[in-house]
Amino acid sequence: MKYKRILLKLSGEALMGEKNYGIDIDRVAQYAREIKNVHNEGVEIAIVIGGGNIYRGLSAEKSGMDRVQADYMGMLATVINSMALQDALEKVELKTRLLTAIKMEQICEPFIRRRAVRHLEKGRVVIFGAGTGNPYFTTDTAASLRAIEINADVVLKGTRVDGIYTSDPLKDATATRFEELSFQDIYDRGLSVMDMTAFTLCHENNLPIIVFDMNKEGNFLKLVQGETIGTLVR
Ligand code: UDP
Repeated sequence: MKYKRILLKLSGEALMGEKNYGIDIDRVAQYAREIKNVHNEGVEIAIVIGGGNIYRGLSAEKSGMDRVQADYMGMLATVINSMALQDALEKVELKTRLLTAIKMEQICEPFIRRRAVRHLEKGRVVIFGAGTGNPYFTTDTAASLRAIEINADVVLKGTRVDGIYTSDPLKDATATRFEELSFQDIYDRGLSVMDMTAFTLCHENNLPIIVFDMNKEGNFLKLVQGETIGTLVR
């Protein structure tokens, strides 16, 4: 295996499948199977999930809500998604732990770095919920931060597109995909991989990012086995 310990970031929207809102249980089950296949190879897996399929602080602020209040609601949305994925992972007989940045004693453990690392060493899939626990941040930033804290080899950003393109492939038929870019290339070309806070954290800590299509069956495993899939930023 190319990587020993990885952090997988999934957007909340990825969990919607073909729906417009909420959680598509079949999609979550599909992700659980993909994660199990990677886990079977002995890779330590930590996961951060977004909340955009349920609630986004920024959008709520635009419709008049207090931003901080709305962001906490967004963080709670990530916990709902995390619990759905945890359930699906347990259905395929993986051992899991959900650790959140906001304490919720009845349903999960508080995030404690050493504990997270211990769970990983014991072969448990660790899900980090509630983002960073702070308003004005995103789950991309939570993913970068947690990946650095647990010393992950790479952040794998599973999306619906298969990498980073010269322009939006959905709008521009001439758009081409990059196989590899440096952090500086991203700044120079004005491309976006994650929000700047998340991206800068990875850059400053030399943590590579791979953007790949998580919906294509088998992609996740191939990627961890070292196949060139998606776009690597390092
Ligand atoms: N959020 C936050 N702090 C964090 C992470 C998330 O306030 O550290 C809130 C924010 O309101 C955000 C929402 O949670 O809009 C959902 O997260 P995100 O938008 O990153 O989810 P994704 O786009 O990945 O689905």
